[in-house]
Amino acid sequence: AHTEADAHPRSNFPYTQAACRGGETSALAHLQSYLTPPWPDRYKQSRNALQGQHTSSHWSPWLATGAVSARRIWAQLQAYEQQHGSNDGTYWLWFELLWRDNFRMLHLQHGPQLYAARGLSNLPKPSHFPKDFARWCSGQTGEPIVDAGMRELAATGFTSNRMRQIVASFLVHDLSCDWRAGAAWFESQLVDFDVQSNQGNWLYVSGRGTDPRVGRRFNPAKQTQDHDPQGRYRQVWLA
Ligand SMILES: Cc1cc2nc3c(=O)[nH]c(=O)nc-3n(C[C@H](O)[C@H](O)[C@H](O)COP(=O)(O)OP(=O)(O)OC[C@H]3O[C@@H](n4cnc5c(N)ncnc54)[C@H](O)[C@@H]3O)c2cc1C
Repeated sequence: AHTEADAHPRSNFPYTQAACRGGETSALAHLQSYLTPPWPDRYKQSRNALQGQHTSSHWSPWLATGAVSARRIWAQLQAYEQQHGSNDGTYWLWFELLWRDNFRMLHLQHGPQLYAARGLSNLPKPSHFPKDFARWCSGQTGEPIVDAGMRELAATGFTSNRMRQIVASFLVHDLSCDWRAGAAWFESQLVDFDVQSNQGNWLYVSGRGTDPRVGRRFNPAKQTQDHDPQGRYRQVWLA
């Protein structure tokens, strides 16, 4: 769905540029370029930023396509720690890779149940409003932070973890739409689509996974204040 024209300078993952191409050679080069001071050391502070190519590792597209393994990344992360020291940044990178593993484990444990309307919960089946869902997909809900995120996703196939949480929460908790439709939309858009991580995160946000909390609603006003106080991100995507 994405074309050469999408890989414009605004993209958080400009995949048509040489450095972001598919395959093992690019994957390993990128792995090394992120495992260079100061990026891993800053990861904990920067990972929630909405825009920027060094704010998080951007390993996911290569992991999703199998160009590099989590095991290999982990080994190189350990080598980095031995050479440059460990800190909360390197710890959190490892911890996030564990989330990825956790969702694989969840699939081994529960299989098809993770794709049922209720997920693992006893909550009622989700409602769904096709018109609201269509507005969400095209970035026209009227909630600026959500619309910016959905337009970034449609234009580039990538958006930060924070933005994924904000837009997923909005679909499920504010528009009362079916979380599985959201997961399917992400599947059709993401350059790093990974079935376990995607399904697992949607279950988590909608409160239908193993998290004891009944859903994770992200307040759009608070998220805007915390992560885009000056409106830079919104300006880029709503212009
Ligand atoms: C609703 C929703 C849907 C998602 N769908 C996908 C998907 O289809 N494919 C995908 O790879 N990730 C998905 N994620 C997880 C996460 O957003 C991305 O892995 C991350 O943003 C990729 O950027 P990065 O490589 O810079 O991550 P970093 O923050 O640098 O993390 C390093 C690596 O850890 C793993 N990781 C980080 N956060 C998560 C997480 N929450 N769950 C599982 N693994 C994680 C990824 O492999 C990532 O490459 C989803 C998150 C949400 C909230």
